[in-house]
Amino acid sequence: MLSKCANPVCLSEFLYLRQGKLFEVEAHFFGAPSRREYYWLCDQCAVKVALCFDWEAGMIAVSASRSTGHRRMSTIPQSSEKAIFGAIRVLIRPFRPLSAMRNSADEGHGVD
Ligand SMILES: [Zn+2]
Repeated sequence: MLSKCANPVCLSEFLYLRQGKLFEVEAHFFGAPSRREYYWLCDQCAVKVALCFDWEAGMIAVSASRSTGHRRMSTIPQSSEKAIFGAIRVLIRPFRPLSAMRNSADEGHGVD
């Protein structure tokens, strides 16, 4: 599932954990165990694309044009759309598997 950038219009392949940004998506269900999915945005997309959850479309990539401010939403075509269907709560947070190996200068403006 982490074979490429989560941005549907980007073709960057996932090669190194240290590149781009990883996100953990936790879906909670009523009367069922929660599920976790992981998404990766490449370096270029991480600065301009946000991962969001839409109750109708599932996981979407939202990009904002700096010049016009127009927001473009693209559905992320992955199995996750089905995996999180029926969720009562979906949490998206930055996931840093290497944070323990990095120094504390790692940017921390996410929604932990
Ligand atoms: Zn990308």
